[in-house]
Amino acid sequence: MARRNTAMLADGTLRVGTHITHSEDLQTEVPPSVLLVDDDEVNLMVTALALRDRGFFVTEVSSGEAALEHLRQQVPDIVVLDAMMPGLNGFDTCLQMRSIPGLEHVPVLMLTGLDDDESISHAYRVGATDFFVKSPQWRLLDGRIRYLLRASSTRQELLRSRARLARAQDLARMGSFEWHSVPASWEGRLDLSREALRVFGLPHGSSLGLRQLIRMVPRAERHGILRMLVDLRTHHSVLATDVGMDLPDGRRRVVHVEAEPERLAASGAVGYTGVVQDVTDRRTAEDKIRHLANFDALTGLPNRRQLLWRTERALEHARRHGHLCALLLIDLDRFKVINDTLGHAAGDELLTEVARRLRSCVRHSDQVMESSVEAGSSRAYRTLEAVGRLGGDEFVALLPEVATEHDAERVATRILEAMRLPIHVAGQECFVTASVGVALFPRDGQTVLDLMRNSDMAMYAAKAGGRNATAVYVPSLSSSGRERLELETALHKALERQELVLHYQPKVDVRAARMVGAEALMRWQRGGRLVPPGEFIPLAEESGLIVPMSQWALSEAARQVKVWHERFGFSDAIAVNLPSRLFERPELVDHIRECTAVAQVPLRSIQLEITETGLMKDLQGVIPALHRLNDVGVRISIDDFGTGYSSLAYLTVLPISELKIDGSFVRDLGLTPQSAAVVTAIIALARSLGLSVVAEGVENLRQMEVLHRLGCTVMQGYLFSRPMPPDEIERWLQQTVLPRKAPWISAVEGGDQTEASLSRGVAGPAR
Ligand code: C2E
Ligand code: CA
Ligand code: CA
Repeated sequence: MARRNTAMLADGTLRVGTHITHSEDLQTEVPPSVLLVDDDEVNLMVTALALRDRGFFVTEVSSGEAALEHLRQQVPDIVVLDAMMPGLNGFDTCLQMRSIPGLEHVPVLMLTGLDDDESISHAYRVGATDFFVKSPQWRLLDGRIRYLLRASSTRQELLRSRARLARAQDLARMGSFEWHSVPASWEGRLDLSREALRVFGLPHGSSLGLRQLIRMVPRAERHGILRMLVDLRTHHSVLATDVGMDLPDGRRRVVHVEAEPERLAASGAVGYTGVVQDVTDRRTAEDKIRHLANFDALTGLPNRRQLLWRTERALEHARRHGHLCALLLIDLDRFKVINDTLGHAAGDELLTEVARRLRSCVRHSDQVMESSVEAGSSRAYRTLEAVGRLGGDEFVALLPEVATEHDAERVATRILEAMRLPIHVAGQECFVTASVGVALFPRDGQTVLDLMRNSDMAMYAAKAGGRNATAVYVPSLSSSGRERLELETALHKALERQELVLHYQPKVDVRAARMVGAEALMRWQRGGRLVPPGEFIPLAEESGLIVPMSQWALSEAARQVKVWHERFGFSDAIAVNLPSRLFERPELVDHIRECTAVAQVPLRSIQLEITETGLMKDLQGVIPALHRLNDVGVRISIDDFGTGYSSLAYLTVLPISELKIDGSFVRDLGLTPQSAAVVTAIIALARSLGLSVVAEGVENLRQMEVLHRLGCTVMQGYLFSRPMPPDEIERWLQQTVLPRKAPWISAVEGGDQTEASLSRGVAGPAR
């Protein structure tokens, strides 16, 4: 047979020259292969010739057995099979062939006798694709074969693309379904593709009704889904939703369902075709992103963005329902100190614990169902209630509905109480307090920003009042423009009319029991009243009046040094408080030079105090002045140390000479371990930097003794003397210090005999 094939092939090739077009086709395309089966040798040869002539690659066999034998080795594109053959006839050959794997779909053209109806239907029954009545009509045969080949390749393409689709759907965890209504059935008929079944965690071939499917939806979502389905059936709308599913294997997945209505021509009934897709992973990623964008990474609380959003929503609801809404701004007192002394890791730990405690003070909910909030009907807006972190040590509590101001205050008090127990971080007990500012909608502001600003103002009022307190916003906190203008004008005149005076508070070295300097504190004699600096310095700073006022203070202090020097040999420095903006002015050094020259005192008799906050705020602008001042011998003191935001690294390079421990730490000495820890840290820091350290606000012996024990000996405070007019300072020295009658002197002497007696020789102002 092989030889004959070759001969036929050779024969076929000979004809190539006469069929140029075919030969061109043959070059670009593989010729379709035909297995031709006929027991009649002549028929076989003639048909084969005709087919080769038309561009087919023909293999001839002369029996059914030989055909099957060949088919097992090689699969042709089509089988042309004579029906009538001795031995295995065409029908049986076809039947057997169909049972061979891989041959189920190879097209079979059965050659039958003319008008043999029985043969034709028999041919179809055994799996033939088509029949052809034997005749030498080669063109017809050619056409029929090509038609079958086209149909077969279309079919194969379809199969391939279906397989590809199934694979793609599998990869995308996607499947399709059809849902048709069935008369008298609520559920209708649901057909799920194999891939769709897989999405629902079911094996191929399982049958699943809508009812079972709904049962897989978690209880909380079920009602919503049912309502959606009912809607769908009444309005024939498009469906697109994500729904949770508890799969039979216990996994909880999120499935995206999308379906379009489809009117069925015959019944006019509406069906749905759609896809289902497992979108759990995408949803998890989305949730993660949403969480990152809206929640603080450290504490897990809602962040600024989320808080603004929630407050915005809460205000909408409050407006609609006419109720009050409260915003509480919570700021930790002196968190910075803890952060700087114990390190950032400890600071983070502390913030996390604070966050946890704050959460317990309100009905905090992380999850806000946006849809339910938008729905607006229920009291869903209550889910907006939360504590969030604005950043740093600033937190906010949002109360979407309060009955009265007292409700908000009660929560604020609860917050302060929640801080009462110490927090353990870095192996230490820390006591944290907070200041809380409260603003109410609509009374204290119509917008989120107004409420934020006003609660902030109230919070500052709480801090100014001594911290660890709550303050509700009152309009006077932001004094009206007119009031301010009046005050500003009056202040202008005060300067001209010389209504400003300096009072002095001694700095005392308790070990030596002597005054080692004084701080000048400004007062305003307005009418009969002595106005404290807290009431006019801030305005002076805002209006710029602080510049001439400070210049006046410098020259007045220099003059005082001279007076005291002449009266009792004062040879220390008077410290003047300057705002940071003065350090930024190039003429500061010259001005001090001039003041001291006029008063005829050395430059070092003026000392400058700049607050830690002011220093850090304008660090770059201030540094050059610090260096120039230091060069000429004017010493710089960092005021209110511990309350600002010092980067300790800077302190090592700044030309400063003194740290003043803020009075707030001194106040709690002997009461909370934390204040002692802070003071110890500041003293250690000052030592390591070669700076002197002064404690402010010392009011009683207990504080003095603790400070003394911790190694701080220079102090200021009511215990020794209030700020006084200059004459009274002299009297104080004469009547208290010199005769060594004050209780603080005996206290130190009692506890520290040798030191005190040693220093007595140089003690006292008159030298
Ligand atoms: P400061 O520089 O921290 O001044 C210390 C404040 O604590 C003074 O308040 C002083 O009277 C008060 N004080 C002193 N000893 C004690 C004590 O034992 N207990 C308590 N509770 N307080 C004590 P004062 O005089 O009301 O000044 C307040 C602030 O005003 C000063 O804080 C300073 O920042 C500013 N200030 C005062 N005078 C001037 C000035 O001439 N120029 C500038 N720019 N600011 C000034
Ligand atoms: Ca000061
Ligand atoms: Ca101070």
